[in-house]
Amino acid sequence: MRYGFGVDIGGTTVKIALFDETGNLLDKWEIPTVTEKEGAAILPDTAASIKEYMSAHGLEFRDIIGIGVGVPGPVDDDGVVNECQNLNWGVFNVREALEALLQLPVRVGNDANVAALGECWKGGGSGCANLVMATFGTGVGGGIIIDGKPINGAHGAAGEIGHMVLDAREPEYCNCGKRGCTEQFCSATGVVRLAKRYLAAQDQPSSLRELEKITAKDVFDAANAGDAAAKEILEQVYDYMGQFLGTMCAVIDPEVVVMGGGMSRAGQVLVDGASRYFPKYAFPATKSVRFTLATLGNDAGAVGAFKLVLDALA
Ligand code: ZN
Repeated sequence: MRYGFGVDIGGTTVKIALFDETGNLLDKWEIPTVTEKEGAAILPDTAASIKEYMSAHGLEFRDIIGIGVGVPGPVDDDGVVNECQNLNWGVFNVREALEALLQLPVRVGNDANVAALGECWKGGGSGCANLVMATFGTGVGGGIIIDGKPINGAHGAAGEIGHMVLDAREPEYCNCGKRGCTEQFCSATGVVRLAKRYLAAQDQPSSLRELEKITAKDVFDAANAGDAAAKEILEQVYDYMGQFLGTMCAVIDPEVVVMGGGMSRAGQVLVDGASRYFPKYAFPATKSVRFTLATLGNDAGAVGAFKLVLDALA
């Protein structure tokens, strides 16, 4: 049996996982991400941690197929990153740099795209060849898989679906400088924004009015407890999600839409809510798409990163 590693580099930790060649996750651990000095220590730290693990567990270099890496920023098919702001990285070839440190084959992808690949391979979209993964967290991210391959695009920016504009008349600005992005309505911060706006415009009583600071979870909890205002707010969110996913499906025509990110902890209500509004916006031929929750959680990135290595061998 041969093995490989999947690495998911984030702004606070680097997650490293060991897989066998069929993709079973055998072990995993994390090291801190040291972002000082242009993040120069990140790859050497990762390489050292992998070497240390290998010698502690009697793994030889000939036992290792390769290392797959997900990075939080735009990256092209050769492994060149173009400014990963969370890591303080500029422009350089991550694949070549890590291959030089480890003397093993390396493949690199964008973190959201490799997470989508992970969900497509072993998670909520297992068995599908065409998939859209939408990550609803503090922001909205995503990844697109077509014919089993993550789509990177010409600038490594494919899958930045959170910045599709849903409502150009939106008065407030998105972090990206535009107005009316998906992220402004369908993220956890978007839910809070819509909640504040709704409560300011209506004089309907709501348990949310008693809170000093509203979180997205508060809105979901209040709606579950029967709060009419919270339910109305979430209907607005689901309507935006339906519009967002209807548009995505008209472009990609996937078999499955996987919904992940922190907000997906709300569970099936999120899938049901978005699916309820989806037909309002979907092109008829895409209406049979399946909606499902992500199942790999924080492992999705490492799983998909390792799949990049396997696909490169195939
Ligand atoms: Zn935006």
